[in-house]
Amino acid sequence: MPFTIAIIGRPNVGKSTLFNRLVGQKLALVDDLPGVTRDRREGGARLGDLEFTIIDTAGLDEGAKGSLTARMQEQTETAIAQADALFFVVDARAGLTPNDRAFADFARRANKPVLLVANKSEGKHGDAGAMEAFALGLGDPIQISAEHGEGMGELYDALARLM
Ligand code: GDP
Ligand code: MG
Repeated sequence: MPFTIAIIGRPNVGKSTLFNRLVGQKLALVDDLPGVTRDRREGGARLGDLEFTIIDTAGLDEGAKGSLTARMQEQTETAIAQADALFFVVDARAGLTPNDRAFADFARRANKPVLLVANKSEGKHGDAGAMEAFALGLGDPIQISAEHGEGMGELYDALARLM
């Protein structure tokens, strides 16, 4: 079994964008509207010389505002169960929401290594959000831009220590 990573986090933080970058193909649908990733997607990923399986998560009810839906919980729990490690993704520009904290609780309870990823950090816009993310207690945020391919070296270093 290859090393498996689940990408988890609330809708719209850039999970599918990161998934696509690591898989190197547009397997996961990215859209400006939350809720476009209809199913869990899995792909063979590469970061430098590291090869692993990656799972993109998104619930059917992602468009629902407010609380974490049952569908999202179920999908996240299934992905976590299959993973050796987690990428917990937050949006460094938007700041933390109650949903971020709910997903962070899942990540914490998983008892698996978690890399805290502060996405949308290009152009230093994410510094404040990354500071805020630190308060989640999931370690030092790794600032990346999945869209622009920034911070991949830092992500590599953190992942290489786990694999
Ligand atoms: P998901 O719901 O977590 O899978 O998020 P998506 O990957 O679908 O991305 C949601 C939105 O954020 C899309 O409009 C993306 O283009 C945008 N996005 C993703 N990564 C970045 C990034 O690194 N920087 C910025 N500025 N936007 C991003
Ligand atoms: Mg998605």
